Amino acid sequence: MSENVGKSGRKIIALVSGGIDDSYLSPLVQSFIEKCAEFDYHVMWFRSLANELHDTPYDRGEVNIYRLINFDRIDALVITAMFMKSQASMNELIEKAKKKNIPIIILDGENDAAYNISLEYQNAFEKIVRHVIEKHGAKKLKFLGGGKGNEESEEREAVFRKVMAEFGLPVTEDDVDYAYFWWASASEAVQKHFDKFGSMPDAFICANDSMAIGVAFKLAELGFEIPKDVIVTGIDGIAEANTFFPSITTIMCNYSGAGETAALRLNDIFEGRIPPVGNEIVDGSVLFRESCGCEPINRSATDNMLKHELYNQIDLWNGFSDSLITSSEQVTGSFSFDETLDKIKLFLKDLWTKECWLCICDGFISKSDDETVDSYENCRSEGYPPVMRYVIHGLNDSDFELMPPFNSEEMLPHFDEVFSRHGNVMFLPLHFQERCIGYIGMEFSLTGRNFHILYSLVTNICNVLENARIQHEMRMVMNRLEDMYIKDSMTRLYNRRGFYRFTPEIFNRCASENKEFMVISIDLDGLKGINDTYGHQEGDNAINTVARALEEVSEGKEIVARFGGDEYIAAGMCPAPDYADKFIKKFEEYLKSYNQRSDKPYLVEASCGVMKGVPAGGETIDHFIKQSDELMYIQKSSRRKYRGYCRLKDRDDGSQSGGTN
Ligand code: GH3
Ligand code: MG
Repeated sequence: MSENVGKSGRKIIALVSGGIDDSYLSPLVQSFIEKCAEFDYHVMWFRSLANELHDTPYDRGEVNIYRLINFDRIDALVITAMFMKSQASMNELIEKAKKKNIPIIILDGENDAAYNISLEYQNAFEKIVRHVIEKHGAKKLKFLGGGKGNEESEEREAVFRKVMAEFGLPVTEDDVDYAYFWWASASEAVQKHFDKFGSMPDAFICANDSMAIGVAFKLAELGFEIPKDVIVTGIDGIAEANTFFPSITTIMCNYSGAGETAALRLNDIFEGRIPPVGNEIVDGSVLFRESCGCEPINRSATDNMLKHELYNQIDLWNGFSDSLITSSEQVTGSFSFDETLDKIKLFLKDLWTKECWLCICDGFISKSDDETVDSYENCRSEGYPPVMRYVIHGLNDSDFELMPPFNSEEMLPHFDEVFSRHGNVMFLPLHFQERCIGYIGMEFSLTGRNFHILYSLVTNICNVLENARIQHEMRMVMNRLEDMYIKDSMTRLYNRRGFYRFTPEIFNRCASENKEFMVISIDLDGLKGINDTYGHQEGDNAINTVARALEEVSEGKEIVARFGGDEYIAAGMCPAPDYADKFIKKFEEYLKSYNQRSDKPYLVEASCGVMKGVPAGGETIDHFIKQSDELMYIQKSSRRKYRGYCRLKDRDDGSQSGGTN
């Protein structure tokens, strides 16, 4: 039994984030979902994998995933502002949540309508400067800032100066330098210092980890040992600061603390303990490591562990890359869109998830040869169309299945049931540039997966789908062109080219199997008269009437073509001696019945000539046509008195005689 989730049942929280920042984002989301699970909340994580910074067509395609959120089905919105560079997307989300009166939590951003949790590390930075002085006895400290005028850098410089003043340590002009947050510039700054003084300060306090690493490189080159001769500290807690030798003492935003706080405050808001608006600070944490002397340097053990991790990563990438190459190769060979969908399952198995859905928008590909609309127009880049047309679903290890289309407002087919199986679902956009293809939904319980792999996988799926779409559309256009090439646009009968494409095979078969081949020539009587008296539209009606008559009588057994203005040819195998005569009889009966039924003043009539026989050596189709034409003209001349005129229904039908003249 599925239970009710969202709004009235168990709470559903929509979490939004952008970018592929595994090392910072994962701990935040991990602690958030763990805490949410304690409160029995489900999390729907809407992830753009773009950095969203430049608002490129690709970025716009990515942020579209946020528009999938159905605010009628969620109970709260959590925005990770530090991982979303698109202010426009954020504002759009906030407005939607406000309209539905849904609590909003913003991590590292500010909005009056939200509960804002900011991540700061001014206090942590103060701690690190104090730590170097108090714990490690440094007296001569040099601050390496990002750049003069840079807000972040200046805040940090102010803290540095404040702590130095507290300890009564002077800060001279030489104790502060700038290196643009870049390792190479930091190396240069160290060289410059050495060139000027021939010695080093007790500690370099750097405004980020990259600069701390640049400083460490240069110190080693100049023969200084860290931390014995010089202490080095950084800020940010990037992955390299940990794997670097010596590992860099640094400070880091407390991402996991922020994730946990977000879940706790949601619970407080739901339970009415705090109002849904407010501000709170989660302070950063200091990571004491080798570069200040807090962690003993144990190279061999650390090195082995780092190498082990590195090889694991390489193995993972190699395995993934092999499977990606194989899958891409197999999918590229698909002939139809359906076959491509079938083969996309090869990619989906690499999502390593218990359950997933690949949903493709209605209108992504045109459905019939006649559909002339460009599916780009059909596939909105802003939001999702009402129906998701193709849905591939995989559950545990069972086979992937194609599910019926469903309403995109539902976000997932059988929404309620899904959450009886899983706690959390992640949504990733499928698009090519701005063209929306659809999205992938997948169960997730751990965030400790490699998002670069996921990014590569999803991008490949998008490319494969876009390629399949282009091929599909090209095939549609080719079919249409082919049709135009061999068919007469007015009557939809074959034209001369169509006739000569298909008739030779029948002709040759008759010749080799000793069977009779027949050609019937047909020409409308008095079409000029119809045109002149009643207009060309009526002339067209007469031409179409004969076409329908021939089509009905032949029942697809003969090749029926419009050869010229009002000339037609029917050709095929003659299964019985009286077959052609019967054909003509039925054709005339059709016209007669039409004339009786029609409310037109004129009669639609035609002259016919038949040529049949087993094709003899050297004879061609054109020989047959020439003779059937001649026979048709003989019949026409017997009706000569009507030539150039049409017979009229009231006057000429039945036993009456005489033309319009
Ligand atoms: P006949 O009885 O001897 O066959 O004479 P006819 O009036 O049918 O004229 P004929 O077969 O000699 O010439 C065919 C005419 O049909 C010439 C042209 O003006 C007209 N025609 C050709 N194509 C079209 C068309 O697509 N629509 C219309 N309305 N008229 C056409
Ligand atoms: Mg004619």
